[in-house]
Formats: sequence, C-alpha cells, structure tokens
Amino acid sequence: MEAMISAPRMQNQFTSTTSFAFARSALAIFLFLLAAACDGNTNAPAPPAAGTSATAAHTDAEPSETPPAPIEASRPEPQPSVELAKTPNILLVSVDTLRADHLSIYGYERPTSPAIDAYFADATVYNNAYSAEANTPPSVMSLLSGLYPSRHRVRQFYQRIPAAVPVLPDFLGAAGYETAAVVSNVVLTNEATGLGTRFDMYDDFVDEREENLKVYERRASRTTDAGLAWLNERTDSERPHFLWLHYIDPHGPYERPIDAKTATFDHDTPQPIDLRRVIAYQRKPGVTDGKTYIDRYDEEIAYADGEIGRFLAAYDALGYGATAIVVLTADHGETMIEHEVYFNHGHQVWNSVMRVPLLVRVPGGNRAIVDRPVSLADVAPTLLGMIDYPLAPRSKSFDGKPVASRSDTDSISLEAGGFNQAGVGKWVYRQHRALVSGQHKWFTSVDRAGDVVASGSFDLVADPGEVNPIEWRLGGKANTLLGWFEADPDPVGLPTSGLKGERFEGPKVAPGRTPDQIEALRALGYVE
Ligand SMILES: [Zn+2]
Repeated sequence: MEAMISAPRMQNQFTSTTSFAFARSALAIFLFLLAAACDGNTNAPAPPAAGTSATAAHTDAEPSETPPAPIEASRPEPQPSVELAKTPNILLVSVDTLRADHLSIYGYERPTSPAIDAYFADATVYNNAYSAEANTPPSVMSLLSGLYPSRHRVRQFYQRIPAAVPVLPDFLGAAGYETAAVVSNVVLTNEATGLGTRFDMYDDFVDEREENLKVYERRASRTTDAGLAWLNERTDSERPHFLWLHYIDPHGPYERPIDAKTATFDHDTPQPIDLRRVIAYQRKPGVTDGKTYIDRYDEEIAYADGEIGRFLAAYDALGYGATAIVVLTADHGETMIEHEVYFNHGHQVWNSVMRVPLLVRVPGGNRAIVDRPVSLADVAPTLLGMIDYPLAPRSKSFDGKPVASRSDTDSISLEAGGFNQAGVGKWVYRQHRALVSGQHKWFTSVDRAGDVVASGSFDLVADPGEVNPIEWRLGGKANTLLGWFEADPDPVGLPTSGLKGERFEGPKVAPGRTPDQIEALRALGYVE
C-alpha cells in the first residue's frame, strides 16, 4: 500500500520539466515496455511502500546538500603523464543479480562462494555497497562512469551511452591500458549499449536462452573461457590491461546448473507462496514452495562462483594476480520472499535489490571490513585514484568519490523506476529514489506526472528488512533527496533524449567461429 502524502508537487520547475517530458513520452513508454518485456522484467514490486505521512515542518536543522550541477562530460585526452610502471593490471568482475547477503563471504549460512571467499580473503569488504540503479544497463553505466543515472542519462534497456560520457576504458585507454570486456547479458551487448566502441576488445557473444526467458545470454563457463582466451591471445604484454567480465548466471529463471561440480542446496521447512507474487518469467508451474526458488538461486551463485574461481586461478597462473587490482561486484541484487513481488529486481530500491557485494583486492593488501555506505559510482574514481590518474581538473565531474574519502555522513543515491507490479494484479508507473547515509535511508516515489506518492525513511540497523518506515520529516537529507529529483533532467526516469538504442534480439556470433558453425546457427535462425 502506498500512503499518499499531503505535500504538494515539489516545485514548479520539477512539474514543468515533468510535463515537458511526458508531452512526448507515449512512444518512449511503449518502447520501454517492449524492452522491459524482452528482459522479462515488466513485473515488479511496488515502491518502498507503506510510506509514512509527511510533515510540513522543517524539523531537521541540517542544511540540505547542493545537488551536482549538470556538468557536460567529455572524453579524456591521452595521459602521457601516467607512468606505465605505476599502472597495475585491473580486473573488474561483475555478476548479474547477485545479492551481497547470499555470498558466504558476507556471512550467508550456505557455502555459495568458496572460490570468491578464498581469493578475496585479503580484500577490503564493503558491507554497505549500493548499486546506483536497479536495472543492468543504468547500473553498469554508473559502475563504469562514476556518474549517477541523472548524469549519464541511461535508464532504459537498449539506450546507448551518450557519446560525451567517458567510461573507465576511455580513461584507462588514455593512460596506456589495453582494455577488454566479456559481457554475457543481451542488454549489455554493443548494439544495446554502445559500450563496444569504448574498449579495444568487446566480446558480447550471447547465444543461449533459458526456458521461460527468451533472451540471449552466455553461461559462466563460456564467459570464463572467453576471458581466458583474450588473456592468452594478448601479444603486447608490456601494456597494462583493464579487463571487465560480466557474468549473468544468478539472473532468473533459476535453474540447477548442469555442472556436476556445483554444490546443491535443499531446505528443510517449506514456505508456501502465492505464485501470483512471483514475477512471470520466474514462475515454475506447480512449484509453490518459495524456498525451492531460493535453493536454485543459491546454486546459480555457486556455479558462477566456481567459474569465477576457475578464471581467477588461471589469472594468477598467468602471473597477473599478484600485481593486479581485482574488484568483484554485482549490478544489482534480487528480492527473495519479501516485499510485494518475489524473485525480482529492476523497479525497487529495497536493500535486497540495491545492496551489492563490493570486494577490492590490491597487491599486498590485508582484510578490511568497511561499514560506511559506498556506491558503485565510486568504483571508477577509486580505481583511477589508485593509479594516480590526473583527475584534478575533472574530479568534480564524478558523482562517486574514491571510497577512501567517503564519510559516514555522505549521501548515496539509489534509484529504480518504470512500470511495475505493485502487488497481485496491481500495476503502476513509479520512479523511486532513495538516499542512504550512515544507517538511515530516505525514499521518495513519484508517479508519471511527477507527483510524490510515497515517502518515508528506515533505520537500516533496527529494521534491515525495511518493513517499518519511520516518520518522514522534511529538512536535511530528505531535502537533499528532493533536490536530486529537482536537479534531474529526467525526474520521472524517462529521458527526453537518448532513446537511441535499438532492440537487439539475436545472438552474437563470436569472433573466430568457423563458417560451419555460423551456417549451423543460421539454419537455426539464430543469425542473419
Ligand atoms: Zn542485471
């Protein structure tokens, strides 16, 4: 249930921007629905519901923070001042749909991640790392650019990154790095994102489909193989490399992996669920024990962990691991049996969806655990800071900060939006935004007209499940959150520019496929 609040629209500026956006957004909404349907994510839970009533009183004396100005980004110039001798290799591993609290390194009771646990034993573990957006493309763009979606402007599937927005491979390429990516989710292909032009090598080969979700992906064993193939085929060993691997396996539908080495999990006490609260592509006919879904989700994690471990072992064997910065994270999490719709992500800012693993392993590092909140938008400025990249002229161009400079009182932005399932049979359009600072979280949801329909806050320590919203008071962080909406050129989440992507449905054919293999795919209708 949403609680309507008595506050008027936030500001005239906001309202007029909203009206402008929606005057020409019918097509945009239609395209969005198409794209979302393709990803199987049109169903989604409600906003952080049961919002409490707003009070008009400005009871919090803390001034709100100034929202970031819409600085025009620009692509980096070559950086001859960066000494290659000081440029470690950088390996970034992201796993789609991976909740932090389902990894054993984060204390999960099941041994889902033995390989990750071992490899990152001496890493810094960020206990409260947040995705910037609940869907894959906008989250990944924030991860790679250091910008929130309001700045990089990517909020939908098949919406390409604006040409002026630089991402990590642009910076690192300018510093002399060889850059490569292996992505395994169809919504990250070059056709869908435009990211392929930013890397020296971009392997977006996806040719497998799971039952129930007819979009292409690539399983972990082949993602690992592709990453290793690139490493083994490199000829310029003098140049440092930046390699990004994106695994997709924990993304639904959850299936028991065919890999016999992967651990299997079975629960004791069943938990019956109403299948109407399970997002359509996750529903298994007749399977009404919710814990069965969790067993399979955990097995998908364990399978990905095994393959990530295989890659990391080979990475070390090739001599890279000892001197590389290695980061592991996820684009977003997933609801389990909680909130309005189960086993879903994309349209909510619950911590189950937004809190992601973030592990940073540096040569000679020791285990450290950091509780202060950080954002995936911090990753790019953090990595660039580690290699002494000359960021001074553009340090204000990031929304994120180097994680070491984050304080307990910093404000971290989370968002999600689109048409979503707000309960059984109930569909709404909402743009949700939340602010996390210390142990508190403030949230506000607006409808497609930009009107506030829910607001509230949570004490994340006292109420980690976010079921008891506390009173929303204007002032301080609440005003900062509202200011973010007002400063956003696309305040209800639909960009007025940028619907330039094309829906991409076919599989990708990997470089090096033989003519016979390509012909076989063509016969199956997989390639043109
Ligand atoms: Zn994702």
